[in-house]
Order: sequence, then structure tokens, then C-alpha cells
Amino acid sequence: MSNRREFLSLATTLATTLAGTLTAGLLSPPAQAQPATATTTATATPVAGTPAVGPFALPPLPYADTALAPVISAQTVGFHYHKHHQGYVDTVNRLTAGTAMAAQPLETVIRTTTSDPAQAALFNAAAQVWNHSFYWNSLRPDGGGTPPLALKTRLDSAFGSVDACRKALLAAATAQFGSGWVWLVADGDQLRVIRTPNAETPLTQGLKPLLTLDVWEHAYYLDYQNRRADYAAAVIDRLLNWEFALSQLG
Ligand code: MN
Repeated sequence: MSNRREFLSLATTLATTLAGTLTAGLLSPPAQAQPATATTTATATPVAGTPAVGPFALPPLPYADTALAPVISAQTVGFHYHKHHQGYVDTVNRLTAGTAMAAQPLETVIRTTTSDPAQAALFNAAAQVWNHSFYWNSLRPDGGGTPPLALKTRLDSAFGSVDACRKALLAAATAQFGSGWVWLVADGDQLRVIRTPNAETPLTQGLKPLLTLDVWEHAYYLDYQNRRADYAAAVIDRLLNWEFALSQLG
């Protein structure tokens, strides 16, 4: 009994300490407002000493800003990558500064915050960082055309033909009301086209993303204005990186 009481006492102390630490971490002002060492807490997580810019970084664009023109102009890529994508990275760093979440992989942040209304701002920013990185990899100069045979076989099996898959992607792009994403995903052994609103991502739905198409207006408005279908068709036919999709099938 004595051991049990001591255990319970220790457990209570630990819980209280942890709760205090977590609360202190969550309530800390953004790291950039403090000296770099001020993020040090009793938890001694890798957050301590993290530079003010934070641990989440904008992945390099896999090609030059000009590489997707004329389908997507350098101006659109410039704003989309250097302003929008960078902005989501900055938000994730700001919202995780001084918390244990800053030491987690981006995918963990996304899966931890999804479906939690109190964490909606962090989920949205983190998912947008991930979705955009995936989007840039889903495109390449001189893309589109015939997929590699191993992927073509899978697309033929799932959709009937590559052209039917192309039409499914285009239909999803035009059907999505408001901002969102169109995806080619693996759902177990089956390939499917789905769409997600806003920042939602197949990562939280037990699906394996293979390709994505950003259908937020910022992805196309400078080049296509309201003509989303023209943007989607041009990207699908001339920029889709089928090799990347195959590499994601694993
Ligand atoms: Mn975007």
C-alpha cells in the first residue's frame, strides 16, 4: 500500500509538472519575440535553442520559377511558391514556436491537429505546407503524355484508360466548389480520384496521395482568371509528373 501511495503521489507530481510545462509552452509568445534561449523549458525538447525562424522550412522548388511556362507563368509560380507556400511555412513556425510540436515531423503535426477545432489554424497551415510541396513535385516541365507502363497498367485497370483518368481529374477540378485540391490516390490496391476542400489532405484519410492539382484561385488566376477548367486541362495534359506518381506508389 505504501508503495502504491508513493507511486500515486509521484504520478500526480509528474502530471502536474507536465501540465504546467505544456501550458507554459502553449502560452509562450512567438519565438521571434524572445531571445533564442528563452524557449528552453523543463521538457528539454529539441525546441530549445531553435533559431527564431523555426524548424519548418520551405522545401526547394524542384525547378526554376520559369520552368512551367507558358502553362503556369513565372509570375504565378513566384507568388504561389515564394508568397503563399512560404506564408504557410511561416505560420506553422509561428504557431508551434516554444511548443513540443515544433520538434515533430510535419506529417505528425497534420495528423495530430486534424479534427481538433482548437488546432484548426495550425492544421490548415501545416496541411497547406505539405499539400503545396506535393503539388510542386506533381508537376514538371514537359509533363503529361503517356505515363510509365507500370502506372499506365494501374490506371487502365482503375479507370478503363489513361484518358478516362484524365477526364476524372478534370471533372473533379471543375466540380470542387471554392478552394481545394484534386488528387490521384491509392486507396489500398485501388487508384481513385478524389477532391478535398480548403487545406484538407488525403494523409488524414488513410489514403496514399500520388498526384495533386491545386485548384485554389491563387494557383491560376493571374494566368487564367476565372477559367479553372482551362488551367486544369493544361496542367493535366502538359505538366503532370506521372513518374512522380509512380514513385509514390511504392
Ligand atoms: Mn496554392
